[in-house]
Amino acid sequence: MAVSKARLRRNGDVRYFLKAPLPAWLSGQSIVPRYEVAIFLVFFAANGLYVAVNNRSSGEATKRLGSIAMVNLVAVSTGAHMNQLVSSCGISPGLYHRLHTCIGLTLVVEATAHIVLQVRQGLEFREQLSGIVAASLLGATFIVSALQRRLFEVFSTLHTAFALGSVAALWLHLPATRLTQPPRVYLLATIALFVFIKVQRALRVAYRSLWRDRRCDVDLHQSHDVVQIDVHLTRPMEVRAGQFLYLTVLGFSTFSFLESHPFQICWTETGEGGRQDIVVLARPRRGFTLKASAKTRQRYRALVDGPYGTTISLGQYGTVLLFATDVGIAGQLTYVRELLRLYQQCMAKSRRIALYWELEAEEHRFWVKEWMNEMLALDTDYILDIRLFIRGDYLSQQTSQGTVQQLGSHNRITLTYTSMDPESIIQTELSTRKGRTLVSLCTNPKITRAVLRGNIWADDVDVKRLDFQPWSS
Ligand SMILES: Cc1cc2nc3c(=O)[nH]c(=O)nc-3n(C[C@H](O)[C@H](O)[C@H](O)COP(=O)(O)OP(=O)(O)OC[C@H]3O[C@@H](n4cnc5c(N)ncnc54)[C@H](O)[C@@H]3O)c2cc1C
Repeated sequence: MAVSKARLRRNGDVRYFLKAPLPAWLSGQSIVPRYEVAIFLVFFAANGLYVAVNNRSSGEATKRLGSIAMVNLVAVSTGAHMNQLVSSCGISPGLYHRLHTCIGLTLVVEATAHIVLQVRQGLEFREQLSGIVAASLLGATFIVSALQRRLFEVFSTLHTAFALGSVAALWLHLPATRLTQPPRVYLLATIALFVFIKVQRALRVAYRSLWRDRRCDVDLHQSHDVVQIDVHLTRPMEVRAGQFLYLTVLGFSTFSFLESHPFQICWTETGEGGRQDIVVLARPRRGFTLKASAKTRQRYRALVDGPYGTTISLGQYGTVLLFATDVGIAGQLTYVRELLRLYQQCMAKSRRIALYWELEAEEHRFWVKEWMNEMLALDTDYILDIRLFIRGDYLSQQTSQGTVQQLGSHNRITLTYTSMDPESIIQTELSTRKGRTLVSLCTNPKITRAVLRGNIWADDVDVKRLDFQPWSS
């Protein structure tokens, strides 16, 4: 008995070791669980073994490099933009993006090695040229995605254009086999998958955004350093906690029809003419969000794609701990609302729902004031505890660092005028928790790491990181 317990414990430890994130010096601002490294290592090893095992000549190596590069091309043809196929497999946008990058990089290395070996073997000029063009375009595809952080939409469009160019060059480069035989069948699969994803996305967007004489509109209004975007849907959308959508605002700028921005669904309500409204909160960055923050209230036509994001069955948790920093609050309100609704319908075991939110400035609490009041009204058994940590820009001159103030009926909102200390919060909460526990994070990397450093890895504690990670201040 003791032995099996010890073994269980050891197995558990391995599981938690793999779930813990890589250190910041390795993964930077991204929170990457260790098991992802294991996935990538297995992928690299499988590629290496395919090329190397039982390989007796450089001609054979060239052929195998070409074949495996074609298989990887099929895998990247679904793109890095979230789609229904990937979302229904429960893959997060962050992991999907990293998988796309990792497979794409391997493909570029393999295609380059393949073409270098072919050149050295002195193949016919026409075949070499198209191959060199294809490999160069694949390389360019990778380089533009490395620059994507600067001008997201421009580099995304260039990335797709180079990828399509490389497919055309590959068509010329590949031996003229039948379409159903390798390697052409791989190219056909690449094109088919690419077209399928694009068409299915276009149909989803059309279904969501156009309905008879109705069009999807958005109202943008700026308040307290955030842009509130009210999306008036044409058809109702079932939204679950933590989900997000993509928004394209038409006529906003010359090329805004090319932009598709992901935003957490913050709130849903019934709007004009009984239509469902979805509200998102956007923090101004450099592009669309910054321009939107400079506009006065205006209405635009829009295209909506979503909702996306994995959902969890919330009713099973006795204790739910929700952490947010800055605009990350947009990701957590749907959790509170769904939990309170389930509780009212006697479908949730919740005994405590604690929302911890760190804000840069006190006025930011007005972003969600109205909805917090609605949630307090729903919370008839007082299981909700909202704690705000305000880092600076206090509204009253009487307030000083460390001041604590309580608001709301039954003091269910506590304002603490200092930074959040996630490690001590998690320690206290976990020592007093009741039942299965959920820890949900929509926090900047610093807070996420601090929470995960706490002793949270246990069989009855589930950790959910939302698909959106707010930036560090
Ligand atoms: C799943 C998810 C949910 C999000 N939810 C929210 C939210 O609720 N509130 C909020 O303020 N922000 C949210 N974001 C971030 C938001 O999408 C970007 O801030 C926004 O697209 C920036 O637009 P911009 O033109 O002002 O960007 P820029 O100033 O050009 O770029 C700023 C940053 O945003 C990234 N970015 C730009 N365009 C896109 C795009 N189309 N898709 C993905 N990343 C992009 C860039 O890589 C860059 O790092 C979310 C992101 C993701 C992935």
